[in-house]
Amino acid sequence: MFNKIYSPVEKIKSVSFSNLYVKRDDLIDPYISGNKWRKLKYILAKAAAENKNHLVTFGGAYSNHLVATAAAAARAGLKSTGFVRGEAVKNEMLMLCKLFGMQLIFIDRESYKNKQALFNKYYQNDSSAFYIDEGGASREATIGCAEIIDELTEEYDHIFCAAGTGTTAAGLLKGLNNNNLITKLHVIPVLKNGFFLKDEILKYTAVTENLFLHTDYHFGGYAKTTPELINFIKSFVGNTGILIDPVYTAKMFYAITDLKKKGVIGYEDKILAIHTGGLLGLFGMENKFE
Ligand SMILES: *Cc1c(COP(=O)(O)O)cnc(C)c1O
Repeated sequence: MFNKIYSPVEKIKSVSFSNLYVKRDDLIDPYISGNKWRKLKYILAKAAAENKNHLVTFGGAYSNHLVATAAAAARAGLKSTGFVRGEAVKNEMLMLCKLFGMQLIFIDRESYKNKQALFNKYYQNDSSAFYIDEGGASREATIGCAEIIDELTEEYDHIFCAAGTGTTAAGLLKGLNNNNLITKLHVIPVLKNGFFLKDEILKYTAVTENLFLHTDYHFGGYAKTTPELINFIKSFVGNTGILIDPVYTAKMFYAITDLKKKGVIGYEDKILAIHTGGLLGLFGMENKFE
């Protein structure tokens, strides 16, 4: 399942950019999508090395990470449990989790804050249980994400990615440093007050001179959208044939377009956008696209 892959790099036809490319990590797998595949690769290797056969992890009710973990566990022949933040709900994503055999445990928001305590409470006598942090955030995840850079056969002026926990961004930065590249890494936090991501990224790598955080593209916060963002998605998908999701990748592509308008990046600059997947995030948003 985690064999070596090279997701394709495609050029986007655009009147605004002459050199805009996208790394199609969304094509790696439909359920273990994009950066979640990158992150789980070495997390599952660690679980296997420790003889753990039960993956335990955490997420919101629309978490791409929960679905990805459930699918990866099923394919690897492992048990999985997902602690879901908030009151019990039903939706398409959680249905997929259940289909992949994941046990779901809904947890009130207060108790959810201390994930390690929850894990200890439920699994203190279960040595087969393996703790995976929300979103897969871990050092192993950054190693998997650094491989995105190892796969590149050309150099770029700018690389863009969306960020939630910042783990993917940290991995990309590591990959750039490992390969002695001076490409600028532009990170688009999808939550409000994304400045905190700098410290998250610094947990994994100390070299940050090529890191640029653009904190003004959250559109109101995590999973929030505006009519402008929705219109952007419609025109982007219609013009490129590449699906993007409202939670992550749309905010990144919007930022690229806007930074070009503002002159931060130039028409001829060579840009690589990392399509981190997450297309299941379109589910539950159908009334926004009427
Ligand atoms: C989870 C996710 C991210 C965020 O990745 P982090 O490593 O947590 O910053 C970005 N894009 C997509 C599509 C995701 O599903």
